[in-house]
Amino acid sequence: MMIRFAILPLVLALNFSMCKKQQAVTDKQQPAGSAAPAAAAPTAAPVVAATPKIKKPVVDQTAQVLIFCYHRLVDKIRYPGTEITPAAFEAEMKELKDKGITVISMQDLLAWKRGEKNIPPRSAVVTFDDGWKSQYEVAWPIMKKYGYPFTLFIYTEGVRGGALGGGEAITWEQLADLRDNGVDIQAHTATHQDLREGHNVTVIEPGGKRGRKKLTGADYEKWVQNEVVGCKDLLEQRLGIKVNCFAVPFGNYNEHVKELARNAGYEAMFTVYGQPITFTSPMDAIGRYAIEANKPKVFADAVSMIGASSGGGTSVAEVGAKDLTTHPADGETVRTALPLIKANLSSIGQIEPGSVQMRVSGLGLVPVNFDPKTGIVSYQVPQKLRDKTCTVIVSAKSEGKKVETHWTFGIEEAAATAGSSPAAAAKK
Ligand SMILES: [Zn+2]
Repeated sequence: MMIRFAILPLVLALNFSMCKKQQAVTDKQQPAGSAAPAAAAPTAAPVVAATPKIKKPVVDQTAQVLIFCYHRLVDKIRYPGTEITPAAFEAEMKELKDKGITVISMQDLLAWKRGEKNIPPRSAVVTFDDGWKSQYEVAWPIMKKYGYPFTLFIYTEGVRGGALGGGEAITWEQLADLRDNGVDIQAHTATHQDLREGHNVTVIEPGGKRGRKKLTGADYEKWVQNEVVGCKDLLEQRLGIKVNCFAVPFGNYNEHVKELARNAGYEAMFTVYGQPITFTSPMDAIGRYAIEANKPKVFADAVSMIGASSGGGTSVAEVGAKDLTTHPADGETVRTALPLIKANLSSIGQIEPGSVQMRVSGLGLVPVNFDPKTGIVSYQVPQKLRDKTCTVIVSAKSEGKKVETHWTFGIEEAAATAGSSPAAAAKK
């Protein structure tokens, strides 16, 4: 009964009606060479459907991400330190597109940093700070036009109705609308001040009364807790969202603030010290480029930092394949289309964990084994290489510098067509 049920769709599709033929169809579904002698038994039926193998994606660790930070969008600039005209903003969004830089979401950036998701080699994340209504009214339509995701960093007392939220502030209703349309909303403290102990801060007392005070000890701890954790809680509860990013006002923080943020469940902390983000950039000091009307070169410089699509920008030290005792050796011809590819990186120096990559012509980026103790990177080719020559590119980072080597070996024609088993090749 069970087998009949399992193959019913096949039976209908092929218009088979006899029991014997149903059995034949089932047999044909067995993968070649698989040991399933009990095909005739009812319990064998589920075997017919091959179990899909779940593979963790191999993320491109050489990708780079620019993170931009904008504030207000206004036609008439009065505060050039935090404003930009809508026209200038839109020109920059267009430039990203024209230059082949892909705008990705903040959550995709984090997934890439966790090694869970690939991102394009040259990406950007667009963020807006402080919660201005022009971000809703002006920036959002432009972002929609380009199909770009974006993130807002909100300080909660600066939302309309809060102690610091004036007429130009975004409202909770606007934030809810953005949220409903997939915009990422993250934390930027409660009152937007220097978070380090011992600074004069504006304290807002219950009832809205403001005073200027130097907070220390327990008073400071209570205050900073509300700035870092209270702000997250309020955003999460008021909007029903998960907040996992924290933008530090003015980029002023220290180890204590970082620890508070980590303990509160923030996955990433952002500053305003712009730099291209790489796979190994620390998660508690992610730099953003603040784009303002009075510093037009910042955007141009940022874009030039991740170079042209030819991959320029980062310097790569080329290492000779001979120095890395590669296998197969450069110029060698092997008799198997299923070679074990190896290189010894120990002569390069200390290799950054997770930075080792291998690309094989015809296969692309492949999942390598790397033994940090011996410095040996290896990859067993799992399916026959089709070409008569094979080029391998191995790259790694050592002391912050990218090192790369490439070499080419040949495959004897007979091997490319006949081949040997991976097991036999691996014994070499
Ligand atoms: Zn800010």
